[in-house]
Amino acid sequence: MDDRQPEGKKKIRWGRFLLWICVTAVTVAAVWILLQLVPKEDENVDVLLDTPVELETEPMTEAETETGCVVPEPPIDEQLLTINDYSRPGEPIDALEYIVIHYLANPKTTAQQNHDYFESLKDLQNTSMSANFIVGIDGEIIECVPVGEIAYASNSMNHLSVSIENCHLDETGRFTQDTYNSCVHLTAYLAAKYGIDREHIIRHYDVTGKECPLYYVEHEDKWEEFRDDVMDYIEECKKAAGQD
Ligand SMILES: [Zn+2]
Repeated sequence: MDDRQPEGKKKIRWGRFLLWICVTAVTVAAVWILLQLVPKEDENVDVLLDTPVELETEPMTEAETETGCVVPEPPIDEQLLTINDYSRPGEPIDALEYIVIHYLANPKTTAQQNHDYFESLKDLQNTSMSANFIVGIDGEIIECVPVGEIAYASNSMNHLSVSIENCHLDETGRFTQDTYNSCVHLTAYLAAKYGIDREHIIRHYDVTGKECPLYYVEHEDKWEEFRDDVMDYIEECKKAAGQD
């Protein structure tokens, strides 16, 4: 009997020990499973980074992305004049508030010929004359002086405007349909791009009283029609861009 008692005590100790092992194992397993269920902080950040951000702004239309303007830029042949005292002083304007329309009182001359004349003034040194843009008889557009730089076209308005000279075929000064269309397009483009309204689209005549552009001074109704056509063009472009 004496021999058995220690044997029994040993069994009970082993039994408790095994029970303790089992309880501990189950507890560790349970805690481990719970820890797996709680997402770790780093993982949360990863999930956020992987989630695409919803943009609140509307995507830009094709026309806006291209030029920052609803009116598409017309084809412009950039032939900037050499900086000189007689046609391109290279000075910035004070502010862009007006678009001034002109005609080149020289029938049948081309935009290129007039550009080259402006360029030659740096050598001739006998007069000061230029324009930011010249629109030719076939509707071609040459840029002579960058927008925002002084051109010698509109007298007291030179420091507040961008100027557009137009070629023509005869002494009436009436623009060809191609010249007219390009001038409307270019004016609409500049007006939309620089936020210039209808009343700030003016003639050289409105600055100095000079009969320029002749046909549109003698025919007030045609001048108003020109400004209407410019504003209509801008509205059409806005509709096409879905901004109306
Ligand atoms: Zn003029």
